[in-house]
Amino acid sequence: MGDRALGVVETLAAAGHEAYIVGGGIRDLLLDARPKDFDVATSAEPQEVRKCFRRARLIGRRFPIVHVLFGRDFVEVTTFRALEGERLTHESGRILHDSSYGTLADDALRRDFTVNALYYDPQRGQVLDFCGGLDDIQSRTMRLIGEPARRYREDPVRMLRALRFAAKLDFTMAAQTEAPLRELAPLLGDIPAARLFEEFGKLFLAGHALKTWRLLVRHGLFAQLFPLTDEILAADPEGPAARLIEAALADTDERVARGDAVMPAFLLAAFLWPPVKRYAGWLQGEGMGEATALQRALAVVRGESVKRLSIPRRFAIPLREIVQLQARFRYRHGKRAYRLLEHPRFRAAWGFLKLRVKAGEADAEPVAFWDEVQQAGEDERRRLLASPGGRNRRSRN
Ligand code: ATP
Ligand code: MG
Repeated sequence: MGDRALGVVETLAAAGHEAYIVGGGIRDLLLDARPKDFDVATSAEPQEVRKCFRRARLIGRRFPIVHVLFGRDFVEVTTFRALEGERLTHESGRILHDSSYGTLADDALRRDFTVNALYYDPQRGQVLDFCGGLDDIQSRTMRLIGEPARRYREDPVRMLRALRFAAKLDFTMAAQTEAPLRELAPLLGDIPAARLFEEFGKLFLAGHALKTWRLLVRHGLFAQLFPLTDEILAADPEGPAARLIEAALADTDERVARGDAVMPAFLLAAFLWPPVKRYAGWLQGEGMGEATALQRALAVVRGESVKRLSIPRRFAIPLREIVQLQARFRYRHGKRAYRLLEHPRFRAAWGFLKLRVKAGEADAEPVAFWDEVQQAGEDERRRLLASPGGRNRRSRN
């Protein structure tokens, strides 16, 4: 088990506080899965927690939380929270701020799913279960604690978490946990776009993207994240848009499984491509060139999308490059071809083009050509990319 989390629990206990390891770490251990991290829950209030450790810092946007620091790593310590108390809620029922403290049993009831509310007491070596989480681990059930509609209203992101965990753990959702999703999905519209982007990463970069996506579509939640794309999917559920997204997600999952790096911008490109392509096609019909049309279409689609899901700059730039390079694979000769080949985003864009071909929405021929170019040795490459006028280029500059 996480030695650091155990150490944190020990230190807190030695100072006379109640402390447990809780959350996904315990859940995953009981499932024989590899835990991502271990969180600690304690009776100590944040200021007291901080006093127990040399390096700790108070954080917390909606809730006060302490990070106990170990180099660049940290263990997250939360104080038992009260069920009802000094809470600031939105008229929709969403909790905006909550800083009232409670007992261990209170704390269990305000967690999201029963399997996430298991507490491990290292001193006694036992797991404390207030909500039937152990039974749900046995039957592999995602069950929201309490009255589902109310709990989803308190924090609509729980809807995304339900599907994310169901996909990752291969669990079935309890009927009452699943039933309100479609109706309550629009509540995600109130969630700040930056928080949704954080969830985006957890949903699609954790190795179970394809399964998660299918659940999101089935329950009407994908429409909240990418409304323009969802419209196209709804009209043609097995068309090229769905095939492209499925191919991109399957590819991402394979990369994660191999331990390879994954590029959020690549996935964003896949999710935004269907409306971008549609709008660009329309602009081209009006006489605009392909490259300009793609650029315009992406700007419009992105502008619309970021109202829901923010796209940080560090991803917006590669996203734009991947999209714009799609128009450049037809330049196979001379300077333009070399510039494409040397572009830092060439490989990502070429990978994206391959997915489009796989989805049946782009011509396979340029892919074959660029495959050949990449596999070719120096001389062969020079021959392939030579200007049609004849003269070979000597240098690559
Ligand atoms: P992961 O494997 O993704 O880390 P996790 O269950 O540890 O899964 P975290 O987001 O790390 O999930 O949260 C830690 C714990 O905090 C959860 O197990 C749950 O008990 C509680 N929690 C997190 N988010 C919420 C929420 N939105 N509502 C209620 N409880 C939550
Ligand atoms: Mg966790």
